[in-house]
Amino acid sequence: MDKSRIDTLRHQPVPDAKHVINGARVDASDGRTMPVISPIDGSTLTTLPKGTREDADRAVAAARLAFDDGRWSGLAPAARKKILLKWADLIEAQAEELAVLGVRDNGTEIGMAYKAEPLSAAGTIRYFAEATDKIFGEIAPTAPGALGLVHKHPVGVVGAIVPWNFPMMIGSWKLGPALAAGCTVVLKPAETASLTLLRLAELALEAGLPPGVLNVVTGEGAVIGAAIAESNEVDVLVFTGSGATGRRLLEASARSNLKRVYLELGGKSPNIVFADVPDLDEAAKISAAGIFRNSGQVCIAGSRLLVQREIYDVFVDKLVAQAKAMQIGDPLDPMTNAGAVNSERQLAQNLAFIDEARAAGRTIATGGNRILQETGGTYMAPTIVTDVQPDDRIVREEVFGPVLTVQVFDTEAEAVALANDTETGLAAGVWTSNLSRAHRMIAAIEAGVVHVNTYGGADVTVPLGGVKQSGNGHDKSLHAFDKYLNLKTAWIKL
Ligand code: NAD
Repeated sequence: MDKSRIDTLRHQPVPDAKHVINGARVDASDGRTMPVISPIDGSTLTTLPKGTREDADRAVAAARLAFDDGRWSGLAPAARKKILLKWADLIEAQAEELAVLGVRDNGTEIGMAYKAEPLSAAGTIRYFAEATDKIFGEIAPTAPGALGLVHKHPVGVVGAIVPWNFPMMIGSWKLGPALAAGCTVVLKPAETASLTLLRLAELALEAGLPPGVLNVVTGEGAVIGAAIAESNEVDVLVFTGSGATGRRLLEASARSNLKRVYLELGGKSPNIVFADVPDLDEAAKISAAGIFRNSGQVCIAGSRLLVQREIYDVFVDKLVAQAKAMQIGDPLDPMTNAGAVNSERQLAQNLAFIDEARAAGRTIATGGNRILQETGGTYMAPTIVTDVQPDDRIVREEVFGPVLTVQVFDTEAEAVALANDTETGLAAGVWTSNLSRAHRMIAAIEAGVVHVNTYGGADVTVPLGGVKQSGNGHDKSLHAFDKYLNLKTAWIKL
């Protein structure tokens, strides 16, 4: 994005935000609000409705009615497609405004946010819109005398709860297939990244989405998220966020109507560099980007580096050089490589991991501290921690910050054992020139995605989902429809 355009947009006042419920912009039922603090400089951008349980219930009731009366699921698929395509066009037309608003809200550097947020959201919605009239049922290969038909029906009301990193991208991963399938949705954005999703809902109305089909309610997770999770009127819950919240959602489902719960949780993803890596410099550059962009607040971040002994010293030196060369700071400067940490709370969490590693005698090869405090914003230096032990908390738990641990290995078997020595399984990276080894590693690593000779960058055509405690179900690709369509069999005697 052009710098002068960013500079114009960054100073525009942000009007007070409202929920979007049943096609209208509304305040919280008790009128309470919460401030939106920008991580760029600690300033107050605007306010959000501090939603109540009553607000969540109203949104669910609106979505229920909108589903049950067929105003959306009853439209011809081609008609739904047309509205969703128009919505994608409107998002794309406002991509610059949306990108800057999102950065002011959550601190992601604009170079990444512009593509990863509004443009990717528009692309995702377009992808699923185009599939709307290409979903077929099945005729089963039964014996003569019977006809087995498999119908696909929208599941009903979807509760979607999303995190603060990449709200538009992750939001569209849920909204695209849910709406294309004919479901209605109640969306709960994160407290520290709600503004763009509210705007997206307003644009959906402008595109012709009927009222009540997409409702967005802001406020605290423990109030709004919990109300959605516990509602007997919500048929399916889709979630991206932390493991702790994921567990609460499963409990809420068990306490209420046993709604299906799909979880996209965090990871502690291994990035494995073999001595036969095709290009050491390229690997160092992409590995650094794979953990330090967006200040490490990326679910698939390659946060555990495993390096083969022959190249350990030289590779770590290159990586430290990459980390030191990164420009950290104002996320609205197009030259910035990593912007702000999302909140004071997240920054304090990141630094606590470092303090613990330092106290245990681990080596902080670079970084390890807060920077640019004079700006009022929340910034952290890219950090590399070496001499770690497999049982260290910093090796086992997701930091969700710009923090990389480094471990050494000798053999392929050792690399696999270290890679899989984690409770999570979201992503991994493998760097090697040996094609057979690459395929062996893809098979052996327990993860939803394995990158080979790169890290990150997978597009909407391929599924993303975790194994082990990284979750279940998939976002993106046509497989995402599985969450939003029920199968119904018709068995007809002929
Ligand atoms: P979080 O679990 O704290 O919050 C996520 C959402 O859940 C927010 O909207 C929040 O308001 C809501 N929430 C919080 N408490 C709740 C409760 N008791 N009941 C219902 N809802 C509640 O996570 P976060 O800190 O916002 O996000 C960071 C986490 O998300 C990291 O662990 C990261 O790895 C994960 N993540 C995963 C993916 C993926 O695709 N697997 C993508 C991005 C982020």
